[in-house]
Amino acid sequence: MKFGGTSVGDEECIARVVSIIEQYRKEGNEIAVVVSAMSGVTDQLHAIAAEVESSKDTPPIEAFITSIRAKHESVLKAVAPDEAETVMVEIDKRLSNLRNILTAIHNLRELTPRSKDYIISFGERLSAQILSAALRQAGIKSQPLNGCQAGIVTNERHGCAQVLPESEPKIKSRVIPLMHDGVPVVMGYMGCTGDGIVTTLGRSGSDYSAAIVGAGIDADEIWIWTDVDGIMTSDPRIINDARVIPEISYLEAMELSYFGAEVLHPRTIEPAMQKGIPVRVKNTFNPSAKGSCVLAQAHRDSRVVKAITFIDKVSLVNLAGAQMFGRPGVARAIFTSLAESGVNVMMISQGSSEANISLIVDDDHLNAAVTAMNKVQLGGYIREVTFDKEVCVVAVVGVGMAGAPGIAGRIFTALGKAEVNVMMISQGSSEANVSFVVAHEDGRKALRVLHDEFRLSEDLSE
Ligand code: ADP
Ligand code: ASP
Ligand code: MG
Repeated sequence: MKFGGTSVGDEECIARVVSIIEQYRKEGNEIAVVVSAMSGVTDQLHAIAAEVESSKDTPPIEAFITSIRAKHESVLKAVAPDEAETVMVEIDKRLSNLRNILTAIHNLRELTPRSKDYIISFGERLSAQILSAALRQAGIKSQPLNGCQAGIVTNERHGCAQVLPESEPKIKSRVIPLMHDGVPVVMGYMGCTGDGIVTTLGRSGSDYSAAIVGAGIDADEIWIWTDVDGIMTSDPRIINDARVIPEISYLEAMELSYFGAEVLHPRTIEPAMQKGIPVRVKNTFNPSAKGSCVLAQAHRDSRVVKAITFIDKVSLVNLAGAQMFGRPGVARAIFTSLAESGVNVMMISQGSSEANISLIVDDDHLNAAVTAMNKVQLGGYIREVTFDKEVCVVAVVGVGMAGAPGIAGRIFTALGKAEVNVMMISQGSSEANVSFVVAHEDGRKALRVLHDEFRLSEDLSE
């Protein structure tokens, strides 16, 4: 069971989490827990790391430590009064490490990816101490484990590290023994390299930690507890009548998470899918709701489209030039150069004239992408490199689209009627996803129009 940031946001939330764990243990389940930082804490850690690196004046390190300490202390005292004093000693040791490293970074004005990962993992270090103490207070044997102690070994890609296969036996031997008579609490979001250097798994990475731990212990199910009733037909903050999807396939859930559905980190599904472990998404604040279940073969209803998602922090890069026409090696030059610059390409489309290639990249990778393409331009392959930051990607997802004729027609007719201009289209060969690019200001409208077109707010389960 993984509990997200809002699920452990304050003392009431933590009490709710403890009672959920108690209830499922009483029903005879053995449970390992993965926990996120309390909501907002990871953002604050990112902000202070950036500030100490760049600030010319004395940065507010002491004020930051004091406020983070106060926040955690007050929750700890409320949920684990008996142990608050001893656990605060542990927390103070960690805060003292944090203070030292922030001060060192300020002195050097240098924040390396390594030191940044160490800093931003602190939210989970603190929340896991608190949740574990709260479980002990409720009479459940529990101990917190950092990512390294839990056996999560990653590569060295700081900031978005990938878990290595050698983790599996380690997780098994370290986590399972603690589950028989208690509940281990694993700090999400972090792992370590083979040399024991702390790494993080990317924003929202605790979902990925949960899947890795779940697969590592051969769990019967992986449960992601969050603040909505399950995986929904669209982002409920944008589409107010979005509906919970009771069952969804691994492939669909993967497509949804790649294309912006924040409810699952994009890497969550793969470890579960490899072992055929169902992933359930449930609401900590409404535990009796059934939630969503992600499995190999989901129940199909008459709807071919399951959900519509949206990513807005992306940019479009256009490469043009007649020189690209019929010339072998152009794609190789372009994609090798992008890969060497560490650019993640989210979508690709090539016009049939071959004189135009469009790419979608993360906003964070835009500068690197344009620099890389300017180099390829010097090699004579491309005449012009242009880009547009004011775009977003909308993805229509559903395995039922494979082999169902006319879906693309419906999508683009509905958008045309609503006067939404489509700038680029891409369909994966899995046919579980049709994604396209529109101007930033049209993104929400496109979501609304397609949610209505495919009647996603209607309950057709009967
Ligand atoms: P947690 O802190 O539990 O990891 P997140 O904030 O990362 O929670 O993810 C849950 C949020 O994802 C929801 O509150 C919801 O606003 C958002 N969200 C976006 N798209 C979807 C979707 N298709 N289904 C459910 N939630 C979604
Ligand atoms: N605390 C981390 C974040 O905010 C990881 C997570 O919550 O999943 O990104
Ligand atoms: Mg999340």
